Amino acid sequence: MPKLQNVLEEIVTANRILAHEGVVDSFGHVSSRHPDNPNHFLLSRARAPERIDVDDIMEFTLEGEPVNPGGRAPYLERFIHGGIYEARPDVNSVVHNHSPSVIPFGITDKKLKPLLHMCANIGQQVGCWDSHDKFGDTALLVEDVAMGRDLAKAMGKDRTILMRGHGATVCAPNVRHCVFISIYLEVNAKLQMQAMAMGDIKFLTPGEVDKVIARTGPYTLNRAWENWCRRAGRPFVAEL
Ligand SMILES: [Zn+2]
Repeated sequence: MPKLQNVLEEIVTANRILAHEGVVDSFGHVSSRHPDNPNHFLLSRARAPERIDVDDIMEFTLEGEPVNPGGRAPYLERFIHGGIYEARPDVNSVVHNHSPSVIPFGITDKKLKPLLHMCANIGQQVGCWDSHDKFGDTALLVEDVAMGRDLAKAMGKDRTILMRGHGATVCAPNVRHCVFISIYLEVNAKLQMQAMAMGDIKFLTPGEVDKVIARTGPYTLNRAWENWCRRAGRPFVAEL
C-alpha cells in the first residue's frame, strides 16, 4: 500500500479508537503531518470522529488553508494542528480533544501530573493554556492562525497541554503514540481525581517519567494498538 494511503487509514483508525475509548465524542480531532510534504497536514472534514472514513480526510497548509476542499467543510479548530506542526519539526501527529476528566485540571490550581507508569508519556507536568490571557473573551475555540501559534508557543517542547474551560491538545512523533498519550491522559486525570479524594498523592518521580518515556516504542504501542483496533472494529497492522 502506498505511504499516503497507509497514513489515511491510520488517521481513520485513530479517530475510531479515540471515539471508542471515550477520549473524543462528537467533537475532537486527530491529524498527521503529510508523509510526502512536511509543510502540509492531513485532517478530516468537520465530522464526528466515529463516523470518519478515508474520503473525509483533507489536506491543509500549516496556515490551515485546505488544498483541495471539494465542497467539504473543515474543522474550525484546524489551526491547533498547523500551529504545532509549524513550531515542532519533531511532531508528526496532533490530537485535540475535550476529554472530560482533564477539564477540572484546566480550571483549578491542581496540576495534572503522572501517577501511573502507563501515563508517564503525558510528561512531568501538564501545562495549561488560557486563551483569555491574550485574546480576551472568545468562544474559546482556536479559530485562527494567531491562536494556534499562541497555543503551540505555550506548549513549548511538551507533548500535552490543557486548554482552560475547553479541553486538551496532545502531540507526538507518530499517530499511534499520539493516540496512546491521549488515552492515558484521560486515565491519569480520572485516577488523580480519585486519589485526591483519598489524600496526598505520591506521583512518579522525574527520573521514573524519563525512564518510562525512553522505553515507549513499538513493543508497547503495538500491543495497545492491536487491542484498540479490535475494539473499534478496525484492521490491525503491526508497526516495526
Ligand atoms: Zn476544541
